[in-house]
Amino acid sequence: MEPIRLGKTDMMVSKLGFGGIPIQRVSEDEAVAVVKRCLDLGITFIDTANAYTNSEERIGKAISGRREGLILATKSTSRTREGVESHLKQSLKLLGVESIDLYQFHGVNDFDAYARVLDPNGPMAVVQEAKKAGVIKHIGITSHLIDVAKEAVKSDRFETIMFPFNFVTCEPADELLPLAREHDVGFIAMKPLAGGMLQNITLAFKYLLQFPDVVSIPGIERVHEIDEIIQVVEGPRQMTEAEQSEMQRLRDELGTRFCRRCDYCLPCPEEIPISLIMIVHSFVKRMPPERVFSGGIANGLEMAANCTKCGDCEERCPYGLPIREMLEENVNLYQAQKRKYQEQMASR
Ligand code: SF4
Ligand code: SF4
Repeated sequence: MEPIRLGKTDMMVSKLGFGGIPIQRVSEDEAVAVVKRCLDLGITFIDTANAYTNSEERIGKAISGRREGLILATKSTSRTREGVESHLKQSLKLLGVESIDLYQFHGVNDFDAYARVLDPNGPMAVVQEAKKAGVIKHIGITSHLIDVAKEAVKSDRFETIMFPFNFVTCEPADELLPLAREHDVGFIAMKPLAGGMLQNITLAFKYLLQFPDVVSIPGIERVHEIDEIIQVVEGPRQMTEAEQSEMQRLRDELGTRFCRRCDYCLPCPEEIPISLIMIVHSFVKRMPPERVFSGGIANGLEMAANCTKCGDCEERCPYGLPIREMLEENVNLYQAQKRKYQEQMASR
């Protein structure tokens, strides 16, 4: 697989990276095997996060003795100095490495969070000190909000930007990617399969392969998934006419009913975490049940029950989504899956 240059980091990474979310939901042996398979196939860019429970630890086990030539990226959701310090320490330990190639501020989805990240005595100071000490090689940021992402790129404070990019969430191709090129900021495409929404692997990757300087990081859970993706990456990249029409058909079908997680619909008077609830179907598919049916996701679902159907959110959604209807669908799906899970647990 051809290496590409990750913007001003000057690091060369495989065109296809590895996204570390889904390995949380399989057994440790399966997780380690899938990461090893990716390494064997020539993937050199591995992305994970402090927030992905056991992902760093499992990746650490898989890369043990194979660190050389790998570009390791992880991230912290903390917006405090102490929090980032502690996450960084933990990541180094769990990954079993002395340095991290790319350290990213995770999910900076509003300008308040962005300001906290940049606080000269806060998170940014910690990573800059770690960079000086050689513990972190490069600094990046991840976001779902295009305005924050553009601001971050323009600021020249970050060497990479990670943003959702796929053939239905294709807005980054218009402004964000050209801006990243202008500032020589490396572009990492998260959610190449739109969080599990796109089932057609060939189309999803052929679309992204058109952008020679973008590294995509599909979340891989099973060996057969990476084998399938690699076949596309190594096969003919030109889209046939039939594929182009199919892509357009899927865009038309999904485009009007697809949450981009931009959070323009907030604030909700009932403080419902709308974008979280809108993708519950994807969590149910991709995450371990014990994480889906407890903690933050379960709390969010409880709050969704307080929706008064006022419709304020729908007025603000730039994509015109029927949010009330979609929230209800996701809540119903979640409750049905939860019942199924509880029955399974009870019958054990
Ligand atoms: S319709 Fe429900 S989710 Fe939307 S703003 Fe009103 S209370 Fe919040
Ligand atoms: S519902 Fe609309 S405004 Fe809210 S996060 Fe999704 S796409 Fe954005």
